[in-house]
Amino acid sequence: MTSSPRNQVEINLNALQENCRAIQKRVGSDTKILAVVKSDGYGHGMIPSAQALSEIGVNAFGVGEVHEAVSLREAGVKGDIVIFLGARETEYEEVVHFGLQPVIFDVRQLETLASFAGSKEAQVGVHLKVDTGMGRLGVMPAELEKYAAVIRKEKGLFFAGLMSHFPCADSAEFTSTREQNELFGKLSAQMTGADQRFPLHIANSAAVIRSSDLHWDMVRPGLSLYGCYPSEECLDLVDLKPVMSFTTEVIQVKDVPAGFGISYGHTFVTSRPSRLALLPVGYNDGFLRSLSNRAHVLVHGKRAEQRGRVCMNVTVVDVTDIPGVQAGDEVVLMGSQGEEEITADEIAGWMGTINYEVLCLFGNLNQRVYL
Ligand SMILES: *Cc1c(COP(=O)(O)O)cnc(C)c1O
Repeated sequence: MTSSPRNQVEINLNALQENCRAIQKRVGSDTKILAVVKSDGYGHGMIPSAQALSEIGVNAFGVGEVHEAVSLREAGVKGDIVIFLGARETEYEEVVHFGLQPVIFDVRQLETLASFAGSKEAQVGVHLKVDTGMGRLGVMPAELEKYAAVIRKEKGLFFAGLMSHFPCADSAEFTSTREQNELFGKLSAQMTGADQRFPLHIANSAAVIRSSDLHWDMVRPGLSLYGCYPSEECLDLVDLKPVMSFTTEVIQVKDVPAGFGISYGHTFVTSRPSRLALLPVGYNDGFLRSLSNRAHVLVHGKRAEQRGRVCMNVTVVDVTDIPGVQAGDEVVLMGSQGEEEITADEIAGWMGTINYEVLCLFGNLNQRVYL
């Protein structure tokens, strides 16, 4: 017999594939999908996610760093792999060997990569990133031509793409996103003259979902593949299914009187005789302390309220109104049970954060099981 954790994150790869098909339908068959699988696939497992997407024809992936791309290649993933955070000089060997495509935002990086690729008689595809208003990575528009000139001149490099990123594509205010997109179009037109046509890409999930004007040649969805919406502005425009669920089980059930303080600091005191269920989950598993006295969980298809402080690996819930709960019963922390559902958005609201963070926390801190 082998033991296994009681807390399990379940990943439904069919839902991942369906979400990807829904997005492909939204952008049309002429627009390529670059599936973002950084941060271990937003907690869903980078390799299984990329393999499931490869199966349905996705042939471009986005990761943060070179080591992630190397893991993908070693797992047999083919196609373009774009390295959003660029490559270090010590990694150029791997960039060439595995045919990876770094994003360029630094001139020294561009020159050293060019000379390395030249010395190996290799051709490295690079994506030049321009800051059209994100205020993060990327070269400023005025410097763009200087970079483009190097890429055109160097035999070791080819233009795999011009890219940018939106800071506010998920917000109600959409004018700034449209203006940024116009600037992106203008800059690319200025560069295209002397060059062959190269792919343009700027859209994250919110932009993918909200407007076809923002799609260009390729789109870079992340969150939406995993079945969540970047914001309320994106609801109803595409049908997505959650890919991740998170479950645990009851380890003790006990009856306590009214006026009984619960967990560290007694931040909750019972107002009636109560039945409590103890769960072996806490902030070490991503069930953060900020959920204390806020979260709900599902037991026997009903909502049970969390009581007192969430501890490192124990949480208390109130099951007074749910008959028959016993040790060993399944508890859903995120996902559906019976008619009820707790979404990543709802949990994010209780935690004071965004659904992206909930997925990364739960998925990357717990054992994953694939369906
Ligand atoms: C993470 C990331 C994305 C995906 O964003 P979502 O909002 O998850 O769709 C796209 N592009 C870049 C450069 C990113 O870093």
